[in-house]
Amino acid sequence: MTTPAPNPLAHTRAAVLGYGSQGRAHALNLRDSGHEVVLGLRKGGPSWQRAQAEGFAVAEPAEAVKGAALVAVLTPDMAQPALYREAIAPHIAPGAALLFAHGFNVHYGQIEPRKDIDVVLVAPKGPGALVRSEYARGRGVPCLWAVHQDASGAAAAKARAYADGIGGGRALLIQTDFREETETDLFGEQAVLCGGASELVTKGFETLVEAGYQPEIAYYEVMHELKLIVDLFYEGGLTKMLEFVSETAQYGDYVSGPRVVDTGTKERMRAVLDDIRDGTFARQWIAEHQAGLPNYRRLKQADLDHPIEKVGAALRARMPWLQPAKEEPAPLKVV
Ligand code: NDP
Ligand code: MG
Ligand code: MG
Repeated sequence: MTTPAPNPLAHTRAAVLGYGSQGRAHALNLRDSGHEVVLGLRKGGPSWQRAQAEGFAVAEPAEAVKGAALVAVLTPDMAQPALYREAIAPHIAPGAALLFAHGFNVHYGQIEPRKDIDVVLVAPKGPGALVRSEYARGRGVPCLWAVHQDASGAAAAKARAYADGIGGGRALLIQTDFREETETDLFGEQAVLCGGASELVTKGFETLVEAGYQPEIAYYEVMHELKLIVDLFYEGGLTKMLEFVSETAQYGDYVSGPRVVDTGTKERMRAVLDDIRDGTFARQWIAEHQAGLPNYRRLKQADLDHPIEKVGAALRARMPWLQPAKEEPAPLKVV
């Protein structure tokens, strides 16, 4: 009989910095898994009160870091370098673990962690709300995990213990490295999930409206109904989507899809990936952030001002099932 390896996080304290989408889910799950958790948050911010109301010990980040065997950095990515410099680097204990849910700052050198600590990644493949709700059902959301730096000799065991603590071990743990996690995450959101999908939708809307069709009908066809298709992808891939659409829709898919998204599109996807891999995108985004986000704000405003947004808002107001109940908290980030 083999005895299970000891849990390197047992009887230690974890500091979770951030109580947003991921932070809240991780903190609640770790606590329910028997870990001692302290939240490191900005005094006076909305998270401070919420975490306290949900029964957590709360301190300013630097205080939370002191004495923690593991520090999970779950604030927005662009806020992490300053947080590392000011609250983590001066206070994290030698041999402790610094944990990220996305590899951006370490991979692109925005955080150069002290050499005497472990640096690991545990990235759930789902939004925080699902990480929590699956855990509460006795299940879990699959997680990627990786080790960037192993000072203690137990970095991998710590990453896996943390992934177990948030429920990922009940589902699936996939080992990766910071580079693969970072580059694939950025590519997915840029080329397909956010960038690709929104351009496909708005260009489809413009094509119909410019050809004289009513914007309300165009909205239903290219944006509203996308959810039905994406849900089928999510539940059963291309197979289920094809099973649940008409023969006519299938034939149109086979002959017209590749006319719209063609090998030229794929070449441009490769160019997007090249910019991610050689650091061009990261350099631009960091410079944009440092400049106070002028292009980000302009491009965002252009999306918000697109005619599809106006017609969409009016139509969604007539879909009562979409209106959140008054007591529901604001939605959190999903990618
Ligand atoms: P959120 O935007 O939800 O984080 C908000 C939290 O961070 C709040 O508690 C906020 O506190 C705190 N915060 C914001 N700015 C600062 C700051 N300058 N200093 C200290 N605390 C701050 O983040 P996510 O959960 O979306 O992302 C966290 C990490 O997880 C990121 O690395 C992200 O890439 C990764 N990730 C996210 C996923 C997701 O589903 N969203 C999926 C997988 C990984 P306050 O209330 O005081 O403002
Ligand atoms: Mg867009
Ligand atoms: Mg991302």
